Amino acid sequence: MIPGIRGTRDILPAEVGRWQRIERVAADVCARYGYAEVRTPVIEREELFAKGTGETTDIVQKEMYAFTDKGGERITLRPEATPSLVRAFVEHSLEQELAFSKLYSVGPMFRYERPQKGRYRQFHQLDVEVFGIADAAIDGEVIEMASTFIAELGVERTELVVNSVGCAACRPGFSAALLEALGQRVSELCRDCQRRAETNPLRIYDCKVPADQPVIDELPHSEDYLCEACQTHFAETKCHLDAYGLSYHVSHRLVRGLDYYTRTTFEILGADLGAQNALLGGGRYDNLVKQLGGPDRPGIGFAAGLERLALALPERVADIRTPDAFVVALGADAWPEARMLARDLRRQGLHVLIDYGGRSSKSQMKRANRSRARHMLILGGDELASHQVTVKEMETGHQQRVARDEVVTTLGS
Ligand code: AMP
Repeated sequence: MIPGIRGTRDILPAEVGRWQRIERVAADVCARYGYAEVRTPVIEREELFAKGTGETTDIVQKEMYAFTDKGGERITLRPEATPSLVRAFVEHSLEQELAFSKLYSVGPMFRYERPQKGRYRQFHQLDVEVFGIADAAIDGEVIEMASTFIAELGVERTELVVNSVGCAACRPGFSAALLEALGQRVSELCRDCQRRAETNPLRIYDCKVPADQPVIDELPHSEDYLCEACQTHFAETKCHLDAYGLSYHVSHRLVRGLDYYTRTTFEILGADLGAQNALLGGGRYDNLVKQLGGPDRPGIGFAAGLERLALALPERVADIRTPDAFVVALGADAWPEARMLARDLRRQGLHVLIDYGGRSSKSQMKRANRSRARHMLILGGDELASHQVTVKEMETGHQQRVARDEVVTTLGS
């Protein structure tokens, strides 16, 4: 046996119903909010993420599955979707085609992280992006849509957290204030934070090392350093959230792991998920499209982790669709008619199983029980002669003969 790769998972039959439901709800919510689906390749040029996600991020520095292909190109398995969607938006001038540049995508991402519950090396995201709208009304709508998505999945006990990390005008002042407040104490922090102080000081707020927390608690808050335009944008965003009746709290520590965020950042956290509790996260990125060679367009979006949503879905979501019926043929003569019956019921939308290999009626019935089919449809000599089928309801054991044409109606009642 050759086992699967560490940090990857098979989504097995017992679980796949949850995934199909998540994908269905995602496509449905996206369509209702005016998003068009885009499917981009899982491989991209390495520089797309170095430039887009950011050279100083953990993702690019430590977690990319990057390699040189046979043609000598540096390729990477995408670690996130935003740069790919920006690339597709620019490369195909989608702005010209769509009334609103609202795009979504669903698919696997790859990061060489330390695997644990809710964190994998191949995982799946729903990615939602809007390009070209600066108005805080879209910040409100995107966050409201993310909340609706979670609510329609039936995930309960979640928490919405928002923040503003400022823009190119005010962020440098905030970073400087942060480093000044840190002063000599930087040497008391963990190794990672010492590195972050040099490369990307805001990421210090992400630190989970307990010993670092007293120092981090005393650091300044980005909200107090916003320029006037960013202050107004943040105030307006919160007004929209209030108008939608969403409850949220502002956390100055929500800086997110990627370099490109400007102004609004947000996350929806789930209960009972342990350390990896972010169901989805996103924010505004007003410079990324231009930075990746496109027109100067603002952007905002979020990515939701499907593995974490699958973990958070309530138990009542049926995992395996139970068959409506299992057709049992009694004796060799009954098989042709039994197969036609299965075909006709399937064509009429029912979930129907039937056996193969001419097995005995006893073996067929055993398999029917294992399948948890709601009905057994029995065809023997008598039934064939009278154009009837014996319908047995498995739960009650109740059995009746019905005309072949009436089977669908009987199963539906
Ligand atoms: P990010 O792209 O890092 O902003 O993450 C967005 C969302 O993707 C998170 O809130 C998680 O739900 C999910 N996610 C990120 N990394 C992983 C991972 N390694 N395994 C599973 N889910 C992940």
